[in-house]
Amino acid sequence: MAIQKTEAFVLRSQPFRSSSLIVTTFSRSFGKIKGIAKGVRREGTPHPSTFEPFTLLEIVFYEKIRSELHLLSEASVLKTFESLRGDLEILATAYYLVEMVDQLTEPHDPHEPVFELLHFAFQFLPSLPPSLIARFFEVRILNEVGLLPHFSSCVGCGQTHLERIYFSVKQGAVFCPKCRQKSTEARLLTGDVVEAILFFMEHGFTESAQYPLGVNTNREMEDLVGRFLTDRLGRWLVTKKFLNQVRSIKAFEARSEAT
Ligand SMILES: [Zn+2]
Repeated sequence: MAIQKTEAFVLRSQPFRSSSLIVTTFSRSFGKIKGIAKGVRREGTPHPSTFEPFTLLEIVFYEKIRSELHLLSEASVLKTFESLRGDLEILATAYYLVEMVDQLTEPHDPHEPVFELLHFAFQFLPSLPPSLIARFFEVRILNEVGLLPHFSSCVGCGQTHLERIYFSVKQGAVFCPKCRQKSTEARLLTGDVVEAILFFMEHGFTESAQYPLGVNTNREMEDLVGRFLTDRLGRWLVTKKFLNQVRSIKAFEARSEAT
């Protein structure tokens, strides 16, 4: 068994036997890592927030060769991101991003850009529009795990410089107007959506944080990614339902205040 050390974000944790936890993390050096933290549910040790979602830890684990479940021997808290818990929409968005990482990555498949994405999102969610961070995050993570289609050319005929772009959720591909007949469910994307996706692909956090994402563009992108992920994963993300409920409550409250 090799001993490994890395920085890692807690994605989720669940009780195991009477006093232990199974902790799923996303680490900088190894990607998703699942480990047993033994005896940590006994009173007094360690700090209660250690294995809460979003916490950035430095972990030491004994790597098991034949199992995906390792032995987590040490965990020290580097950052807790408490401000994510101050607002329900921010919290729901953070859970949504974490579930996306959990669902779209495999254990021991390192993606340092995804680790950096989480870091960026947790840092800036309290101060930037949660929807802007979510849209940027979606584009970047789908690209990083190889699920984002090439927007520069039609998958049917290879034509580039497309004026109108049709996207097929089922095929995860882009078609020109002529080739769209090959895909019955391909839908026309508005220019604003394509522009935003390309911008997020080509620009880093700082520039993207200034992007003027319109309400309708945001909605269309969110709907597109939602349908795409549901098709890929075979189900809705649980946290997406939670996020929608939180938004409905907020909208209801805003309407009540206005009347
Ligand atoms: Zn074509």
